[in-house]
Amino acid sequence: MLLRKTMVAVTLASQLLALPLSASNLPDIGDVASQTLSPQQEREIGQAAMIEIRRTGLMIDDPEVVAYLNRVGYRLVEAAEVGDSRFTFFGLQDRSVNAFAMPGGYIGVHSGLIVMAQHESELASVLAHEIAHVSQRHMARMLDGTRSGVWISVASLALAILAAQAGQSGAGGAVMMAGLGATARQQLDFTYAFEQEADRLGMQTLIAAGYDPASMPAFFERLQKHNRVVESNAPEFLRTHPVTYKRIADAQGRLSEQPYRQVPDSPDFLFLREKLRAQQLGPRNAVDFYLKTVQDKRYASEAAARYGLAYAYFQVREYDASWQALQRAKVVFGGQSHPALEYLAGQILQGQSKDAEAVTLLKAASSRFVGSRALLYGTIDAMTSAGQLAQARALVDDGISLYPGDAWLYLRSARVYGAEDKLMQKHRAMGEYYVRLQEYGPALEQFQLALQQPGTDFYLLSGIESRIRDLEQLRRN
Ligand SMILES: [Zn+2]
Repeated sequence: MLLRKTMVAVTLASQLLALPLSASNLPDIGDVASQTLSPQQEREIGQAAMIEIRRTGLMIDDPEVVAYLNRVGYRLVEAAEVGDSRFTFFGLQDRSVNAFAMPGGYIGVHSGLIVMAQHESELASVLAHEIAHVSQRHMARMLDGTRSGVWISVASLALAILAAQAGQSGAGGAVMMAGLGATARQQLDFTYAFEQEADRLGMQTLIAAGYDPASMPAFFERLQKHNRVVESNAPEFLRTHPVTYKRIADAQGRLSEQPYRQVPDSPDFLFLREKLRAQQLGPRNAVDFYLKTVQDKRYASEAAARYGLAYAYFQVREYDASWQALQRAKVVFGGQSHPALEYLAGQILQGQSKDAEAVTLLKAASSRFVGSRALLYGTIDAMTSAGQLAQARALVDDGISLYPGDAWLYLRSARVYGAEDKLMQKHRAMGEYYVRLQEYGPALEQFQLALQQPGTDFYLLSGIESRIRDLEQLRRN
């Protein structure tokens, strides 16, 4: 079963590459080795993998998580001064401790890694390492290096997909690596050089972006300890990025040249980590866990612990308890509150069917925290369920003109059109949503569905028809 899925992924990638690479004949790839992946081909592989990963249903759609990972990721990308800055950071709902980079700048982080990180800089150090794998084009260089490199690079792509599909600690990954056998071992030196390079450049990026460089060896060490304790369940990060004592020592060596500096964790990190932890613990366990955490004062941030309790109550729909815990979190946090606290407040009100109140609260919060994408989404959602469709339409259209590449705004636009019974526009918006996810097949279907809806608006119709032509063209190429 797992193997079959791998073959599907491999076949898919090979079709995109248009290389004479067949699933039954993998290690023997003839003169392919002389070819190099172009950046365009790398992006195509990455996009194909993203479609597969999205189909697993494990990709985290939570607007706060999406926005947060991209914020940290782009802070690092800017500091790394890489030429091509097209990166996409995404989270996967998976309790195993892992992160991976795919060709084309797609960087995935398992929720388990974020929950396990003791500091934000640890998460940043992993992202910085992955950014270096992408910017140094390690996948493409493996292809250049040796023939079997093709197999490895396609396999590690398949591995990422498999790990996501397995949705657990990646038994599939282990099977894959074992299956590679001697070929993989031949590659280890090569891989090791890439890991060293990613560590070295990652550390530079981390420092340039203003994170704590000591977090890199600290996180490696903790991973390794964790690995010893849970031997049968080694974090996948260790398998795909083998951590050795030499790597830790190297990282510590680089560190000794740096002046010591303490970097405080951002509230965004502290709140979101608890949200993910609460989701990972599951509804019932989360309430018990946070009640005890708050009672025993076992926290680094009291506001985050109380927010965790509020979120845990929200998960079990105990909205009054959730609201009370959230008010305590706000008091402890002080100042002018925080987008995460306001977003949850809006969700609680909606849970209580107080849609109009939710709109008022979220609108006020949006104007206080300009630029918070999560609050923008939340306000549109609340307006839609409150039946304030004209306001929701205005807000979603403003948002789209501000962020035309944002898929999530098109998804919301489609919802508003749906509520307005404007089916042609609804399917067109869904088409635009899929275009932004680079899923052109489903996009085409939506535009074709749009054409089948009643309507005579000439501009709308010709716009949809031209979209269909573009997508069909894209498919032929
Ligand atoms: Zn690595």
